[in-house]
Amino acid sequence: MALRFFNSLTRRVEDFVPLTAGEARLYTCGPTVYNFAHIGNFRAYLFEDLLRRTLEYAGLRVIQVMNLTDVDDKTIRGARQAGVPLADYTRTYKEAFFEDLRTLAIEPAEHYPAATDHIPEMIALVRTLIDKGFANVADDGSVYFSIARFPRYGQLVNLRREQMRPTERVRSDEYVKDAAADFALWKAYSEEDGAVFWDSPWGRGRPGWHIECSAMSMRYLGRTFDIHTGGIDNMFPHHENEIAQSEAANGCRFVNYWLHCAHLMVDGEKMAKSAGNFYTLRDLIGRGGNGREIRWVLLGTHYRQPLNFSFQACRDAKAALQRLDDFVVRLREAQARSGPSDAAVAGLIADAESGFRAGLDDDLNISEALGALFNFVRDANRLLDAGGLVGEGATAALAALARIDRVLGVIEPGRQDDVPPGVAARARERQEARKARDFKRADAIREALRLDGWLIEDTPGGQRLKRL
Ligand code: AMP
Ligand code: ZN
Repeated sequence: MALRFFNSLTRRVEDFVPLTAGEARLYTCGPTVYNFAHIGNFRAYLFEDLLRRTLEYAGLRVIQVMNLTDVDDKTIRGARQAGVPLADYTRTYKEAFFEDLRTLAIEPAEHYPAATDHIPEMIALVRTLIDKGFANVADDGSVYFSIARFPRYGQLVNLRREQMRPTERVRSDEYVKDAAADFALWKAYSEEDGAVFWDSPWGRGRPGWHIECSAMSMRYLGRTFDIHTGGIDNMFPHHENEIAQSEAANGCRFVNYWLHCAHLMVDGEKMAKSAGNFYTLRDLIGRGGNGREIRWVLLGTHYRQPLNFSFQACRDAKAALQRLDDFVVRLREAQARSGPSDAAVAGLIADAESGFRAGLDDDLNISEALGALFNFVRDANRLLDAGGLVGEGATAALAALARIDRVLGVIEPGRQDDVPPGVAARARERQEARKARDFKRADAIREALRLDGWLIEDTPGGQRLKRL
């Protein structure tokens, strides 16, 4: 079965057919770097990571662009309040963002263009829109997109003509759904902008938020590309405006597949900076969480379903990951044992991988994919109990887990290579002792292993053995 996704534009599940065979071009709206991203933002970035890894798992080469919005109303306000130049202010949050991506094992995109490095491309695009009659220059030197000139405006969110107010103009980057109006492509300089401005044919000013994504996607992915994603709150006005700008300027289709993730919620409300109900990744790590568990929590619910954040979910993640870790340790021990494996092993492995893939292919159905994985863990553990999974059978099971983990990014069974079985068994004993809160015994085992030249590290990914 082919890879298929729910396309927000057509409101249907569709087979994914890339523009160029073997390649997927993907644009993912990135962070506004005015503060630390919260885990609601990371739900969106993790959904995009799952999408990216699923495309790769299906054998496609992915070219992903994630923009960094480092000039807009919020970044300018933040820099002013902090009393530092805009670039200094945003640098801190750019760096923090990349650190957080690493903590969550999010695969890097091919390009992370910053808006302030692409102002000439934005000016060129605004100029094209004026030349083609889709935009007007206002008296103050701002430029507005005229939605009345673009009859397909509203196609993504299904706006009706009577919901549009082409007589109004909005300067703010974010506005509400029932107020479709002409929006700013270029904002004439105002006092509040301080030292933040660029020269343009229309005078000093700065780009609007929406034009950033149109200009940068075109620069790195071409006029038409395969997939564009974001959180559902980005559909309007941001993505609707991106479509209008790009299609009006280029006269061709902008994006073939639009994918949007539902929100991360807290007590029934969207997690948001403005609502004050948010946790950053750093908050959760400060409370004893780790990147691997948070990754698991945020990935574990289908991307189109709202996900309610809770600390119970973090505890459940710990338990699920422990189960996988224990399984890996057992397989490693079994690997060293010789003898034939049960005839059922090959079938179990094949079912695990085909079930996992079938789930993901079906619009990233992660529950089905994880269901296949945990069925495998259960059945293989039974065989391990009975001594029916050893030697090459165990090696094959570990290889299958490694392939599955190219998508999940949490198991990493390759990490404990070359640990002799006796050492692995004692390390496992220590883990059991810790679980039973028998720390005296756990420490004694650790010390004995140290004398044998092995160091046990307790890492967020579980226990790890290192040769001293
Ligand atoms: P922003 O920095 O506000 O532009 O948001 C960056 C990304 O995070 C966008 O794709 C948003 O749609 C997404 N986002 C913001 N809040 C949430 C949330 N509570 N749940 C899921 N995604 C979110
Ligand atoms: Zn965007």
